[in-house]
Amino acid sequence: MNTIVILGQHVEVPFATDTSRLGQLATRPRLDPHAVCQVILHHDACLSARACFDALHGRGLSTHFCIDNDGTVRQFEDPGARIAFHAVGHVRGSDPDRPQAQVAFNRASIGIDLSNAVDVKFAHRYDPPRDQATLPVQGRPYTGLLPYPCQVEAALELLQVLRMHFPALTNDHREELRWLGDLTPATPGIWAHGQVSRVKVDPFGFPFSRLDEV
Ligand SMILES: [Zn+2]
Repeated sequence: MNTIVILGQHVEVPFATDTSRLGQLATRPRLDPHAVCQVILHHDACLSARACFDALHGRGLSTHFCIDNDGTVRQFEDPGARIAFHAVGHVRGSDPDRPQAQVAFNRASIGIDLSNAVDVKFAHRYDPPRDQATLPVQGRPYTGLLPYPCQVEAALELLQVLRMHFPALTNDHREELRWLGDLTPATPGIWAHGQVSRVKVDPFGFPFSRLDEV
């Protein structure tokens, strides 16, 4: 039986999971799970979810879920009980002297990483090979490795489960991987790290229009 853990309870899910590394990363307590209204999507810039876990552990960072190359959803933290350290972003301010401010998007969000090194120099490390594409990111063409289709399907299934358990989590979303500066840590929806941060490019190649399905 495949399960993920939400607020300490095992929840049965219709996709492959692994909770063997649950609760080992740097986080802080989430005192108000009802406040969860966002997901921030990432790619991990690593070759596997195991390498992602090790990198986060080494840097004192965390994410709630990492979707491995075969589509297995590896859960690192309980999204109802722990705030993970996964997303620094920027918001546009009204003060002309400080036109944009750096803020954390962690307090009311769940972090989901798709494992993908993205840089084409890693193409030979993947079997089966990943497709490549050149897509606009932050307004410029960016060439990278795409997520495997099984990772996208797993992400959509995981998001459906999370929306059942976190009623304030909407599926508002955008199709362009670009920072506009109007999203805040309190804006409900499923956002890309590159949509809340002006310097991030993740998750590269995610088909955001499919978030209509969750
Ligand atoms: Zn990110």
